[in-house]
Formats: sequence, C-alpha cells, structure tokens
Amino acid sequence: MEAIKLENVDFYYDRGQAAEVHALKNINLLIENGEYVSFFGPSGCGKSTILYVISGVEKPDSGKVIVHGRDLMEFSVKEVAIYRQIGIGIIFQNFNLIPSIKIIENVSLPMAFLGISLEKRKERAMAILSRLGIADLAERYPYELSGGQQQRVGIARALANDPPIILADEPIGNLDSANAENVLNLLKEFNERDGKTIIMVTHEAWSLRDVRKIFYMKDGAIIKTELKKPD
Ligand code: ADP
Ligand code: MG
Repeated sequence: MEAIKLENVDFYYDRGQAAEVHALKNINLLIENGEYVSFFGPSGCGKSTILYVISGVEKPDSGKVIVHGRDLMEFSVKEVAIYRQIGIGIIFQNFNLIPSIKIIENVSLPMAFLGISLEKRKERAMAILSRLGIADLAERYPYELSGGQQQRVGIARALANDPPIILADEPIGNLDSANAENVLNLLKEFNERDGKTIIMVTHEAWSLRDVRKIFYMKDGAIIKTELKKPD
C-alpha cells in the first residue's frame, strides 16, 4: 500500500516576484507503507520544502500530493488537521522544543488536541520517555539537557500520537557522532520493529546506511532514485 505519492509536483517561493525560487521541479515519487526512505542532496536543493509539501504545510503550485491513496487537496480542513496531528510525526534538526515547559509537557503536548485526559497524556508520555531511556529527564526543562538528550525528546514528541509516518529533517545535523548514531539506530528500530514509514532528509552520506530507497536531489529535482538491499 502506498503511503505518499507525489505526481508532477512543482513548488515556488515568491512566485512571480523578482526573488522567485523554483524550489521543486516536477517531482514524481512513491513511498510505500513501512519503507525507510531518504531525500539526499546538498543544502538548498529542496529537501525541507519537499517535507513541507508532504506534511501539508505548503501547497504545491501544481501537481498532486496523495496520502494513503487520497489527494491532500481534497481533504477537509479537519482532515488536514487530523493528518498533521496523528498521521505524521516530525523530527527537526534544531529539536524545536518549547523552552518554557518541562520535558514531560513537551512530549504530552501533541496529545492535548485530541481530547485525551491529562492523566493519560502524562502516562503515555512517560512510557515513550522510558522506551527512549530518558524517563529521568521528565521534570527538567529543555535548557537543562544536552543536544543528544534534546533530540531524544524531539523524537519522543514525534511518537506521541503514534503516527504511521515519521518525517525527520536533518535529525542528526546538530549532533556529535555518538548521538547521531543513537538517533539513526532509533529510526531503524521504529521502521523495523514498529513498521513505521520513515522519511529522512540528510546531506550526510554515511547517515543513509539503513535507508532502503534514496531520492537524490539537485536544484529542486530528483535526479536519481536508488533502491538498496539490506546488508
Ligand atoms: P534544503 O532543505 O535542501 O537545504 P530548502 O528546501 O530549504 O533546501 O530550499 C530550497 C530552495 O528554496 C533554496 O533555494 C532556498 O533558498 C529556497 N527557500 C527555502 N525556504 C524559502 C523561503 N521561505 N522563501 C524563499 N525561498 C526559500
Ligand atoms: Mg533543509
């Protein structure tokens, strides 16, 4: 079953203005449920933009984004909101934790919009933090954590609503190699053990080691798709 399909997607920033950027050029791709894929290419080639389009943050100027067989443009406002709340989880390069609230609250927050009781939210957040080995950090604030710990919290938050698809935008970009290694191991585990579809953006070749389908990008286009066999 297909998770995400893009058909002839074009996207511009500042279209029609002097500063116009043709950020995505005729993108066609298919990501199946349970795949681990990556968008790989140099800075500025359109990797983040493609994630914005997949997550419904940006609308393509032309072409289609098809999510689990349905055109995202045909989703109602409510369906788009549900897709973004429970259909996908996003991991960021800069962690994007809310500095003024505790770790447990950062991880519980995505559940707050689903009408889950506070008690249940905290219970589930603690279970995820435990799985990631950071339950002891629950009562701390983001600034009290190392980068590697903050990214674990970012990952916990992405898992909060148990989405079938995880989008990770340069998740190891700000980490030392030991922590980067840990994050890659987690992504692999979510894919293999939990069956999640993983879509990771990276510009570092070594971080592709567990990826099974690589979309090579250049100047807004996919220039090659490579299928890799398990080692
Ligand atoms: P990557 O994630 O691969 O580094 P991006 O998707 O961020 O690339 O950017 C693709 C292109 O779009 C680049 O030329 C970039 O400068 C441009 N771009 C990105 N975001 C914006 C924006 N908000 N406004 C205008 N141009 C943008
Ligand atoms: Mg980017």
